[in-house]
Amino acid sequence: MHLEHIKKVDPQIAEAIEEELERQRNTIELIASENCTSQAVMEACGSVLTNKYAEGKPHKRYYNGCEYIDVIEELAQKRACELFHMGHANVQPHSGAQANMAVFMATMKPGDRVLSMDLSNGGHLSHGSPVNFSGMYFDVKSYGINENGEIDYENVRQLAHEHKPKLIICGASNYSKIIDFKKFREIADEVGALLLADIAHIAGLVAAGLHPSPAGYAQFVTTTTHKSLRGPRGGIIMCDEKYAKDIDKAVFPGMQGGPLEHIIAGKAVALLEASKPEFKEYAAQIIKNAKALAQGLIDEGLDIVGGMTENHLMTLDLRRTGKTGKDMANVLEKVGITANKNTVPNDPQSPFVTSGIRLGTPAVTTRGFKENDMREVAKIIAGAISASDDETALENLRQRSLKLCKAHPLYE
Ligand SMILES: *Cc1c(COP(=O)(O)O)cnc(C)c1O
Repeated sequence: MHLEHIKKVDPQIAEAIEEELERQRNTIELIASENCTSQAVMEACGSVLTNKYAEGKPHKRYYNGCEYIDVIEELAQKRACELFHMGHANVQPHSGAQANMAVFMATMKPGDRVLSMDLSNGGHLSHGSPVNFSGMYFDVKSYGINENGEIDYENVRQLAHEHKPKLIICGASNYSKIIDFKKFREIADEVGALLLADIAHIAGLVAAGLHPSPAGYAQFVTTTTHKSLRGPRGGIIMCDEKYAKDIDKAVFPGMQGGPLEHIIAGKAVALLEASKPEFKEYAAQIIKNAKALAQGLIDEGLDIVGGMTENHLMTLDLRRTGKTGKDMANVLEKVGITANKNTVPNDPQSPFVTSGIRLGTPAVTTRGFKENDMREVAKIIAGAISASDDETALENLRQRSLKLCKAHPLYE
């Protein structure tokens, strides 16, 4: 990492960046929405492109001097369309939440009805939570998951017929099973709704062909670029050609001003990386690692919501251990593992306490963890849960985590 200039100009920020790098190097990152992007992506994001205003779209800008910016943004759009087999891509959304907001704006008027997955069942804030714009300005009905950790498609169908939504959203922040996009489209067609597939979490798996694609089923596909896709922090909207104008207008001038062209360059680089054979291998390893972690935890006598995972993540169900998600996420931090607390279906605890912990493998897979490493991680997690009050035992577990980190160096 080159920090020569910032060290001179702002030593406090330089020091915090260096400490953050050490933290990333020395902890096992199991937050399912995180990843470690490539140095190539970071170079694009740290480039002179940050200096440029480029409101509008390629060749139709409100500012002059955009000839190179246009090259970059068009490459990002073309790569997104090719990778996900969609007709049109808008690569300007600053984040996944803003990508979703633009789809709401392009397809509905305030007060219109949406059917989406409930937040406490694995949905996302921006799919209709009452504390988010989506829940404040739209009429939201929600579906959940059953005790097997699966979407009950018959229930979704009933809710759709009962509530006649304008937009149905599928895609989640915490769902460990394959999503049946075809079935969602059938349901949407039955009630005359449009379908939005938010693939923020699984984009890398979809790009690699290891999760069915929503292309051909969802009229709108949104994603983040920084999760399993391993790009910079940001969002993308893809849609059928027919909706291109509406989407572009909703992003700008609807919700955003100038696009972040340095981040768009990072997205372009990440999309190119994701089209390579090595990325397919990477994505396959993410799933193998998730299955090895889940099996390791089950072998240690722990419960996983819905049993074996089918993708990159799982929720550890702590109800039988008598411990809470909040406490155990803090204990895991002590042993060098970062993860977040999460509700389980019908959670007896509040969303601030929870009975679950969400675990995902995209980040550790990037640094080279394989199945045997994941089995050791499962043992460390199980050990930390059973010895959560024993500081000596926790210190020993911390050393085992460190050993795994040293065996798989990051950014060296
Ligand atoms: C992470 C996520 C988002 C939002 O991403 P941000 O970039 O944090 O706004 C949207 N939808 C789903 C399903 C997500 O998991």
